[in-house]
Amino acid sequence: MTDPVLVVEDLYIAYDGVPAVDGVSLAVERGQITTIVGSNGAGKTTLMKAVAGLLKPTGGRIRFGGDDITGLSADQVVLRGLTLVPEGRRLFPTMSVRDNLRTGAYTRKDEAAVRADFEKVLTYFPILKERLEQQAGSLSGGQQQMLAVGRALMAAPKLLMLDEPSIGLAPTVVETIAEIIRTISANGVDILLVEQNAHMALELAEKAYVLENGEITLSGSGAELMESDKVREAYLGL
Ligand code: ATP
Repeated sequence: MTDPVLVVEDLYIAYDGVPAVDGVSLAVERGQITTIVGSNGAGKTTLMKAVAGLLKPTGGRIRFGGDDITGLSADQVVLRGLTLVPEGRRLFPTMSVRDNLRTGAYTRKDEAAVRADFEKVLTYFPILKERLEQQAGSLSGGQQQMLAVGRALMAAPKLLMLDEPSIGLAPTVVETIAEIIRTISANGVDILLVEQNAHMALELAEKAYVLENGEITLSGSGAELMESDKVREAYLGL
């Protein structure tokens, strides 16, 4: 087995001295979909932001592709090949779909490769191809989520992190997003997915972690966690 693409070691992040991520360790293996399941306020967004360089951890290490990236800026992290699809999508609502996609490639110089990736993204999301000149803010919630994923892919990531892509979407749309995540993974992009929707996350996961009050309390394959009594009661409502 090769080294994991991402390793988080004993990470701590606090807001005004109150820990939100409290000694988290996890690994994302190459070629896999890894997911983190946790309820509201568990620390998922804080953890993702720290890995993406948007928050400085107070302790611990983040290694990506074998390099220590702890404390690097968000731009530097993107340049190394790690891109976050943030919670709430953070699109530019008055800009067109095309221009939103282009902003995802802002760190890239190779125009030919950017054009090729633009075409590739449109093959993942044919609906966006039909709406290239439309304002992003006029898209449906599911289409906006697709645009947020497409924009992140325009940075040509090795590892794509997604923070709650299913939030606010109807079940059929969630299933479409899940299928797209599977396809992106099959095309060679490693995935770290954070979700309150344990059903979606565990179905996709080759490896899954449960995050509670800033700590990892369970881990295993998606199938193993789906069988766990605790997960079934607390996260799957069974
Ligand atoms: P959600 O699903 O609501 O986004 P989450 O699992 O992503 O939840 P975080 O947003 O990371 O959780 O929040 C973890 C803890 O940190 C919560 O107790 C939250 O209230 C607190 N927190 C988050 N952001 C801040 C902030 N900017 N300042 C102070 N406390 C914060």
